[in-house]
Amino acid sequence: MHTIDSSPPTSRLPLPDSLAAVAIRPGDSDYDNVRHTYTRTGSPAAVISVRDHEDIAAALAHARTAQLPLTVRSGGHGISGRSTNDGGIVLDLSELSAVQVLDARSGLVRVEAGARWGDVAAQLAPHGLALSSGDTGDVGVGGLATTGGIGLMSRLHGLTIDHMRAAELVLADGSLVRTDAAHDPDLFWAVRGAGANFGVATAFEFQAEPVGDVIAAVTTFDAGDTAAFLTRWGAAVEAAPRTVTSFLTLMVGPGGQPVAQAMTVHAGADTETARKALAPVLSAGPVLRNQAFVTPYHQLLPATHAAQYAQQPLTVSRSGLLEHLTEPAAAAIASVLVAGSAPMVQLRSVGGAVNDTPSTATAYAHRTQNFSLMAATVPTGRRNLDRYWERLHPHLNGLYLSFETGTGRQQLQDAFPRAVLDRLVLLKSRYDPHHVFDNNFALPSADLPR
Ligand SMILES: Cc1cc2nc3c(=O)[nH]c(=O)nc-3n(C[C@H](O)[C@H](O)[C@H](O)COP(=O)(O)OP(=O)(O)OC[C@H]3O[C@@H](n4cnc5c(N)ncnc54)[C@H](O)[C@@H]3O)c2cc1C
Repeated sequence: MHTIDSSPPTSRLPLPDSLAAVAIRPGDSDYDNVRHTYTRTGSPAAVISVRDHEDIAAALAHARTAQLPLTVRSGGHGISGRSTNDGGIVLDLSELSAVQVLDARSGLVRVEAGARWGDVAAQLAPHGLALSSGDTGDVGVGGLATTGGIGLMSRLHGLTIDHMRAAELVLADGSLVRTDAAHDPDLFWAVRGAGANFGVATAFEFQAEPVGDVIAAVTTFDAGDTAAFLTRWGAAVEAAPRTVTSFLTLMVGPGGQPVAQAMTVHAGADTETARKALAPVLSAGPVLRNQAFVTPYHQLLPATHAAQYAQQPLTVSRSGLLEHLTEPAAAAIASVLVAGSAPMVQLRSVGGAVNDTPSTATAYAHRTQNFSLMAATVPTGRRNLDRYWERLHPHLNGLYLSFETGTGRQQLQDAFPRAVLDRLVLLKSRYDPHHVFDNNFALPSADLPR
């Protein structure tokens, strides 16, 4: 049986007929299936399973009139857990999940925000196309595509947002806009990195890449000498051809010994080329186990659509980006793990094609770094993690919102360099002057200090 911390409201939220038709409220048989997310239990007064932009506009208007908290949910996999609430309205986009190939030759596709990335990958595969998104098929399109998208082919294909050609959004006033490089270009810039602050994204157009089979290696390393291992792994990743992207998870194994598991992808199916490209990364440390296989890309991230009931106990996470895994940086990361302040530390390689995009092109402005770092712990471990993270902070340069649960001014400043933050704040006052979309790294008002 699933654990539930918060009690649902006892009175039934009155709703206009059009919303009542698609609302799930406490007492409805489906309520327990939709109230929670992957990391958080919730007790919303209504989860509105929106069918189109008109439902979204009606729900926005109703939340405003009834002065209820409003939350947007696509996949419900947000690490911050902000896609549910207590006593408010959840706009659930999961019914808006169509994936459409608009032009197979050029790779132009339209993807609705409620789709899961695993389903997107599976539906593009028969066309020989793919979008590098993340490593988890259940992650929703809307949350990831409004923030960045560090995927298993990032070093070859860049971030997910680098492939975005247009976005459709319902703004705070209920209007539907389609933004691209020629229409509302400021909004299009802001959506690609700070999207949650500007509206409800309903669909995106992306330029997908021709992708067939890839070669993936799942490697378990003895990471006992954690800092030395990280330094070697980092150097090998940076030196590897762009076809290679590696994601590393560090944990303390049985007996207190740190182990690292890497998922390393060579975006290509030629085994000899892959062997050469992968070898230095796979020999970064003593290998306890290694399995390499040729696979269609989409099989690396199946969408399970498993029920969400706050099953992830590591609900406090810190994010940072780094240019290089220097010895001092690696030592500071090692101490976060070894001191037991974070049961899980992850590193994802960025760099390569991610850094081909100018830092001014998107609100996600981090285009010099080679690694994204995340450390996660349980709520009672927060203070200890923060103590070690503070020591690590001088080695970091930037922050990726999708891996951060803190919401202070420091996080905003780390996520957005000063000029980017200034521009975002001005745009916020243009597109969301009444701060309707403020529950996910809210941008301050233009007249407040930042
Ligand atoms: C197991 C796991 C693995 C992950 N791996 C990666 C990875 O490899 N690479 C990576 O880049 N990220 C990764 N992530 C992070 C992931 O990208 C973010 O957590 C993302 O926000 C999840 O998207 P979602 O739609 O499922 O989120 P939800 O929980 O539905 O939403 C999270 C927040 O995003 C905003 N949002 C959601 N949908 C919309 C929308 N349509 N319009 C406007 N705002 C919206 C809202 O503020 C919402 O509160 C991972 C997350 C998990 C849980």
